[in-house]
Amino acid sequence: MLNIVIFGAPGSGKGTQSERIVAKYGINHISTGDVLRAQIKAGTELGKTAKSYIDQGQLLPDELIIDILASTLDSFQESKGVIFDGFPRTIAQAEALKKMLAERGQEVSIMLDLDVPEDELMTRLIKRGQESGRADDNEETIKKRLVVYHSQTSPLIDWYKNDGKYQHINGLGSMEGIFAEIAEAIDKI
Ligand code: ADP
Repeated sequence: MLNIVIFGAPGSGKGTQSERIVAKYGINHISTGDVLRAQIKAGTELGKTAKSYIDQGQLLPDELIIDILASTLDSFQESKGVIFDGFPRTIAQAEALKKMLAERGQEVSIMLDLDVPEDELMTRLIKRGQESGRADDNEETIKKRLVVYHSQTSPLIDWYKNDGKYQHINGLGSMEGIFAEIAEAIDKI
């Protein structure tokens, strides 16, 4: 089982690189952001709740997102592994993921930290907002998301270092170059 956590600030390229990992390694992909956006589009109660947090650049409550993750995980059958994209984002979520996988006799194989300088993140997200119209990719909300990343999410770097799963990836450069570094790290597991 190949269980990969792809980690990084908003705009670090988690989604793009996840697609490449899925294509090469044939594992399932869970993007919590994509799950929530699908709920918003479908107009569900969960979607309404999610929208109120996402538009403010805030994280959803841990219990809610952990439940969503657990049910998505249960929907996969005969999986060769999973790439977790956008989860965990807090220490409580990392602890929940560890427990969830342990209950299935599994563990996180590696945590890939896509490291990108802040000015580059800003440029990429503003461009993405203009091209895709994603409502949370506007300057004000991006700034809030980066503050949330630094306060609530970046402590996971030390958490995964302590867990012996941490792998730094240089997130600047060509998509192919970044993917080559990722594949090299995965192939070493
Ligand atoms: P990005 O990495 O660019 O911020 P995502 O699509 O991963 O984009 O997430 C968009 C938003 O969805 C987040 O700002 C947050 O509000 C919500 N969200 C996604 N994943 C989580 C999570 N694991 N915990 C709490 N909120 C989440």
